[in-house]
Amino acid sequence: MTSPLGNPEQDPQVIDSGSFQKGPLHNADSQEYWKDWRWQVRHAVRNIDTVQQVMGIKFTPDEREQLQKTIDKFPLRITPYYLSLIDANDYKNDPIFKQAFPSPKELIVEQYELNDPLAEDKDSPCSCITHRYPDRVLFLVSNTCAMYCRHCTRKRKVGDVDSIPDREKILEGINYIRKNPQIRDVLLSGGDPFMLNDDYLDWILTELGAISHVEVIRIGTRVPVVLPFRITDELVAMLKKHQPLWINLQFNHPKEMTLSAQNAVRKLADAGIPLGNQSVLLAGINDCPIIMKTLVQQLVKNRIRPYYLYQCDLSEGISHFRTPVSKGIEIMECLIGHTSGFAIPRYVIDAPGGGGKIPLNPNYLLTWGVGKVVLRNYEGVICTYQEPAHYDRIICDENCDTCKLVLDTDRADESKVVGVAKLLADYDETTTLTPQNNERMDRRYDDAV
Ligand SMILES: *Cc1c(COP(=O)(O)O)cnc(C)c1O
Ligand code: SF4
Repeated sequence: MTSPLGNPEQDPQVIDSGSFQKGPLHNADSQEYWKDWRWQVRHAVRNIDTVQQVMGIKFTPDEREQLQKTIDKFPLRITPYYLSLIDANDYKNDPIFKQAFPSPKELIVEQYELNDPLAEDKDSPCSCITHRYPDRVLFLVSNTCAMYCRHCTRKRKVGDVDSIPDREKILEGINYIRKNPQIRDVLLSGGDPFMLNDDYLDWILTELGAISHVEVIRIGTRVPVVLPFRITDELVAMLKKHQPLWINLQFNHPKEMTLSAQNAVRKLADAGIPLGNQSVLLAGINDCPIIMKTLVQQLVKNRIRPYYLYQCDLSEGISHFRTPVSKGIEIMECLIGHTSGFAIPRYVIDAPGGGGKIPLNPNYLLTWGVGKVVLRNYEGVICTYQEPAHYDRIICDENCDTCKLVLDTDRADESKVVGVAKLLADYDETTTLTPQNNERMDRRYDDAV
């Protein structure tokens, strides 16, 4: 095929990831280039010696050996910018250090941990796509990141140079989306899509934009947090052509909201791109209601809407980051009612085995009688809500043309209910959802034969 970029062989699809610099980073030279993202990428720190040098710390030979083993399994990569945010005097407690620098604890594999806990590979019709939900897909367009988060859920894939998707693989994904008209939302992720060069990303966005049933495209990126200089005017001008485009960031700690990060975020917001944030709840980093409240308030101040707070999933090598679920609920308890509604993310567990995101909340419904609901608020005030004595229920036969409610769309045939919503639907006679291999049901079928 002819591509807008000419010969695919000659296209650097991924920005130059070069080699790490051997000497100290804070020399006179570096100042000049500090805001040049290509310089940042080329000088990304990839070995322990450089971290020791730059931060002026020294690990014991034992520690050093353990750390080396760790990065042999899960690669190390930190941008000079992100590394510079670490407080060298108290690095062991530093939230940036903990997210960026390996810990030998990553080598511990708990027996319940999984290589692909979300079954992203199983729900994958082609190598770059995970199709889990009815109307949207995850499209993995990059396999590399500016900084490798130690808590990354896709540790198994990210940084694995061999599987950077080439143009042919991307086209497979695009064709899958083109052939499946129920897909109205495409979520570009990776790795980090902003590690692709502008032209390559432009090409992907253009191809997707040309598919008539694709209504919205989203990009999930950590680049504004770990490499804010990548958000150049040229990149923003390119993205602006592809509205409606939503961008989801990953700020995990208020310390990451530097002036450079704020500047990057401002450019995106000024371009009219709606911004969301997906934090991961991380033990020893942000598992504190006060830190979380500060973070979400800083996010909205910078026009970023907190979207998700993820419970750490069951990927291998991240057990030391996991908190009990109770910690997440406690944080939600301390946010809901206490700060602006739009500053509150949804706390979710991505279901092991591929069930998707499951929201969790403190309980507000205390009890329920005929016509009355008893609720409590964030202050502990208990109140009664009176339900209406009369309610003309609309019986739904799924024929929207004759319904007195007006659904002004010609796509109503795509509104088939699935899952628990089925149990509530008038036009569906399902009264029970029973898992396969339910022993009680197996006994019944045996009887029937
Ligand atoms: C998170 C996710 C999505 C998007 O889910 P939303 O709740 O719509 O943000 C889509 N596909 C997969 C596989 C996901 O993990
Ligand atoms: S930016 Fe995202 S994909 Fe990349 S290492 Fe961090 S969490 Fe993983």
